[in-house]
Amino acid sequence: MTDAFDKCRLPQEIEALRASGVYPYYLPVEERLQYGEVVMDGRRVLMAGSNDYLALSNDPRVKAAGADALRRLGAGNSGSRVLNGTLTLHHTLEGELADFLGHEAAMVVSTGYQANLALAPLFGPRDLLLADRHIHASLIEAARLGQAKLRRYRHNDTAHLGRLLETAEPGGGRLILTEGMFSVTGDLCDLPGIADLADRHGARVIVDSAHDVGLLGPRGSGAAEHHGRQSAVDVQTVTFSKCFGTLGGAVAAPRQVIDYLRHSARAALFSASLPAACAAAALTALHIIRTEPERRRRVLASAGRLRTGLSALGFDVPAHGMPTVPLQIGDGLLCCRFWTELFQEGILANAMLPPSVPEGRALIRLSVTAAHTDAHVDRLLEAVAAVAGRLGLPARTPGG
Ligand code: PMP
Repeated sequence: MTDAFDKCRLPQEIEALRASGVYPYYLPVEERLQYGEVVMDGRRVLMAGSNDYLALSNDPRVKAAGADALRRLGAGNSGSRVLNGTLTLHHTLEGELADFLGHEAAMVVSTGYQANLALAPLFGPRDLLLADRHIHASLIEAARLGQAKLRRYRHNDTAHLGRLLETAEPGGGRLILTEGMFSVTGDLCDLPGIADLADRHGARVIVDSAHDVGLLGPRGSGAAEHHGRQSAVDVQTVTFSKCFGTLGGAVAAPRQVIDYLRHSARAALFSASLPAACAAAALTALHIIRTEPERRRRVLASAGRLRTGLSALGFDVPAHGMPTVPLQIGDGLLCCRFWTELFQEGILANAMLPPSVPEGRALIRLSVTAAHTDAHVDRLLEAVAAVAGRLGLPARTPGG
């Protein structure tokens, strides 16, 4: 007999990072300063790893709405939505979200992760679920919880998706699962291609808009609106932890689907509801998203500046122009060396290692927000150039 805790050892790769002094995880933020900077390790650090794309987490109106709701309604609801934990505020938020996203109804849950888990009852035993290979861990988890047969199609490869649909056994429903803007690499899903295939094969389309809601489309409702194909999306999940600057998530869909999920999604049924402070902050953030499109323009302009600067440094950066930009490094240890040196230069980026990325494809994920000025982006570029120069990666000096 072995002890059940014998398995509790760190993976070798993580041990190697620790031994080399380049462990990049769980570092505490001590203070949050205005304008995209934080204090870490007693130093001022430029935050280049946040998903707070519209810089609403520190917006005085969002914070005031959260604080006011906290005072009025308490720090938590101590119960699930279905029993004692539903607030009028949740209903208001659901109504406004459904209207904004262009769906009949919405269900608010406590995180974006849970919003995706809540999809599981849609994946029935006779259904076929076709999922992009790069989808987020929470969607994979939902697929595992569901009962449908799961097939993965190559990332954004609609030809592959089409072949899987054509060779699918008849009977049962078909569902296509994708992200709107992919979380690690920032590229957009080929929604027009997916929508055409869904039409042809009678499939339902589910889009996780965690990273694109608030950011893309003329009204900011996400990737589907950006592509002009809103009506092609049957179910949309969103999170409040990125553009909304707080915590929480939601599923938006036809009323029949939402009613069904309200009584079958265990991730929502058996977990405490979203605290009032987060719901009120999300509602105010939604109002700002609807009325201040300049925030989207500002972050996309910074993203463009970052992209142009990185290509000038010799990095092969994607052309998508989104605020999330991957710097492909490859080797995990080298990636964490890069991360550590960037941190020493006063930049916090994200070191993405497997399983977040495929084996051998470690990368530094940089992201900009509406709080970043041109000077911030230039400082980031200078730091990347300095580190890349020291590590012998493909970079030239800015402007060089
Ligand atoms: N979906 C995607 C695509 C994500 O990137 C994330 C979080 N990184 C989630 C869902 C989960 O959202 P949350 O962190 O709000 O639980």
